[in-house]
Amino acid sequence: RLLEVKNLTKIYRPKKGVPVKALDNVSIKFPEKGMVFLLGKSGSGKSTLLNLLGGLDRYDGGELIINGVSSKSFGQKHFDSYRNTYVGFIFQEYNVLDEFSVGANIGLAIELQGRKANEKDINDILDRVDLAGYGSRKPNELSGGQKQRVAIARALVKNPRIIMADEPTGALDSVTGRQVLDTLKKLSSDKLVIVVSHDRDFAERYADRIIELSDGHVSSDMEYLSDSVPEEAAGLSFDGNTVTVPAKYRLTQDDLEKINAYIQALETEASISLPAAYRAARKATATDESRIVPAKAGDFKLIRSRLPMRFAYRIGVSSLKFKKVRLAFTILLSCVAFVLFGLADTFGSYDYVSTCTDSIVDSQIGYASVEKSVKQYYGADKDFFYFVPQLLSEDDLDDLFRETGIRFNGVWSPLAGYGYYQGDLSFDDYIGQKYSDNPAGVSYDSVYSTSFSGYAAVDAGVLEDAGMSLTAGRLPEGDADEIAISLYLAQTFINYGYADADPYLSGNADGVPKPEAVSSPEELIGRTVFGHRIVGIVDTHVDIDRYAPAYETDPGDTAADLLLKYALQNEFSYIKSYSFSRVIMVSGDYMKALTSDTAVLNCEVSGLNADGYIMYGYLGSAGRISELDPEKLIFPDGEAADFTRFETVLPLSVAYDIAFSGSVSELSPDDVDSILSLLKDVEFEFSAGNTEYRFTVAALYDDRDEISPKSVFFSDGDADAMFSSISAKYSFAAASMPESERDIRNLVRFTGEEYGDTGTKYSLCNPVAYELELLDSLFTTLSTVFLYIGIGFAVFASLLLSNFISASITHKKREIGILRAIGSRGNDVFRIFFSESFTIAMINFVLTVLGLFLITEWINGVIRNGAGLLITVLGFGLRQILLVLAISILVAAVASFIPVKRIASKKPIDAIRDR
Ligand code: ADP
Ligand code: MG
Repeated sequence: RLLEVKNLTKIYRPKKGVPVKALDNVSIKFPEKGMVFLLGKSGSGKSTLLNLLGGLDRYDGGELIINGVSSKSFGQKHFDSYRNTYVGFIFQEYNVLDEFSVGANIGLAIELQGRKANEKDINDILDRVDLAGYGSRKPNELSGGQKQRVAIARALVKNPRIIMADEPTGALDSVTGRQVLDTLKKLSSDKLVIVVSHDRDFAERYADRIIELSDGHVSSDMEYLSDSVPEEAAGLSFDGNTVTVPAKYRLTQDDLEKINAYIQALETEASISLPAAYRAARKATATDESRIVPAKAGDFKLIRSRLPMRFAYRIGVSSLKFKKVRLAFTILLSCVAFVLFGLADTFGSYDYVSTCTDSIVDSQIGYASVEKSVKQYYGADKDFFYFVPQLLSEDDLDDLFRETGIRFNGVWSPLAGYGYYQGDLSFDDYIGQKYSDNPAGVSYDSVYSTSFSGYAAVDAGVLEDAGMSLTAGRLPEGDADEIAISLYLAQTFINYGYADADPYLSGNADGVPKPEAVSSPEELIGRTVFGHRIVGIVDTHVDIDRYAPAYETDPGDTAADLLLKYALQNEFSYIKSYSFSRVIMVSGDYMKALTSDTAVLNCEVSGLNADGYIMYGYLGSAGRISELDPEKLIFPDGEAADFTRFETVLPLSVAYDIAFSGSVSELSPDDVDSILSLLKDVEFEFSAGNTEYRFTVAALYDDRDEISPKSVFFSDGDADAMFSSISAKYSFAAASMPESERDIRNLVRFTGEEYGDTGTKYSLCNPVAYELELLDSLFTTLSTVFLYIGIGFAVFASLLLSNFISASITHKKREIGILRAIGSRGNDVFRIFFSESFTIAMINFVLTVLGLFLITEWINGVIRNGAGLLITVLGFGLRQILLVLAISILVAAVASFIPVKRIASKKPIDAIRDR
């Protein structure tokens, strides 16, 4: 005995209305083979019983015993596997999968068994149901009977021990219906075939046993002990008024209709009707279930189905064809969410070193200049700090070389000290146009410059390191007063002319200088500036063409144009300030000589005056008293005196500032005696280098008709002792940017951090580093903002996707039901919908990566070209691609989990009935 039900009860509890007891304590034992009909009126419970037998539905009481094993402990998984292993289901409405060919429908059933489907197996099966050659047809090209035979074939491939058919002929005409039943009858020779029918004729003709149901009870249970089925006779023969019915021939409804039609054609009143007793040619007796032998225990085995991915994928993806607009919308929103997410990450993973390095490379910044600053704490609790600018010494240059591998050249600016670390040395006086009939001078709003940034020693090695080349002349040599200037500054003279102002400025000229035209860099060789003789012109590769438009005013400029011009000017100002372009290039020896006559102090100076007030001021650079015009010295008692140690001379302008700071009364800059008397007994203090110095003011220097470049003067003895110990003299250090990205990165990293434990910082001086410093906090903020917006969108996208999957589940419900009925597990349903959402995820992924790529390029472009900044902000790389991939898959999985879980745990019968 293969299958048995005991006290099976099923109560339907509709949401509305009263519960229906569809089966009431039904107990039946089924034989291992033979054809059993479940007969009964509509609503008597036949389908309910069959569904329970097939494990498509759950019962409310009793049990199912399969091969001696009770279903009491079965979960849904077991019922799935039971169906897959034991039961072939045939439905009234065929339930073949319309999107697969006949062959694929059958192949699918084979593969659900865990076997490989091959052409031959499929063809053999089709042969058995008389459908040879129909393998590649689509179900919608078949007739109802053919479809039903496909369904039978599909049931057969499993070689199931039970075939269950619910009104298999209900939708077929009687001839096709008979063919289907003939097929089933053949199968019943070694299988249990359970057929639900309300057609008594068919039942009586084909059944080995007829179980009649009414109102959920078994009302009759009869069996035919003789196996003989009446042979299909040649048929009825019609002859005149005689209709001949062969002996034992069992008339069908069809035959009756034929006969009646014949009679009608004869136009007689008579018709033939056969008594019921005559129709029941076979003799049925009450079923004796005791003859059904119990199955051997132990051969109960279940095969777990496994829907091959390729089928799952086909079914899953086929639903993308529906609801295209919704799909597009879902994908669009998901992409927006993921792009925001990706942006959040790109901004979040913003890292100064990488960004700065990329930007320097992208912007082709050719110079690498650094300034030095030292952290100093302020406040009562020393709880806030500034980085205070400092001059660089040779030691600093050595440190830089050791840490970055780059030889920096100090740029010395004798004017540093007027409160600026980098004093510009204007050579405006040497510009020809200044002395023309129409003296326009050189506008500050020009790409051309009329000032130097300082002095630097440049020899052949530096020239090569910095990638510069000689345009004309040679490099300065020895300790002669020789300089080289950049081609960029030579352009100033070529544009505006040159004037020999040296005699004029020293008071040795008869009249104002004459403007002279300069037409080539060569023509500048031999001319002088500040008394220095120009011996060479060096090409520092300034891209004048790039920056010149930024200085041209155009009334039609939009705000964006102006912004761009401003940005370009800013960029150019860095080049001017921190490259070799405005440096007075001298020989190393001459540099030594120049700097030994002076020291850059850059310090505060203070002392108490007689009234107890603090007098203070600021000292830039120091010089020697011996370089001053003795005629212009003003002594307290009007008589020149020798200077003893640390007796100094202050220029009147500096002295006035200091005196004024400690004065209680009104002071006039011309009130020389008062100024001097205020200062003369005060002991001033300052520290320079690492040493504290004290000095007194012994005399003033009358600088009223000139501006002294220095702010304090010492005797030669003091200067010799002091100046060499004050080694910090360079306002910045310049070098060329290294070639390799690795070296650039190294430089950027080094300059981005504090060096040592003294709070020293060497900062990179270029617009990239400067802009990044400003944008740093903006990026951090943007990253957070994008992250939250991204999360918001992602949640929304999940909901949309979830909704979409739900909709396509509704669409696929019947197919799922069919798959479940023919044996696939809840898990297989997951595979179907996961392949659907995975496909969506992949589309999302590709679109998102593309979108992210375009957007980062766009943002980088806007920042670079629109805002004119030199930075490459967003690095889009593998990290973002992987992140987006992970997010896409995660969202797809989350979105499909709940709806799929719901359908997968549904009873198959509810799915198939589309409830
Ligand atoms: P048959 O197949 O013999 O026509 P069914 O087994 O389909 O009968 O139905 C038996 C009884 O259960 C009928 O009264 C029917 O109305 C009721 N029934 C069947 N399915 C449901 C259902 N899902 N919900 C409520 N009542 C149902
Ligand atoms: Mg029914």
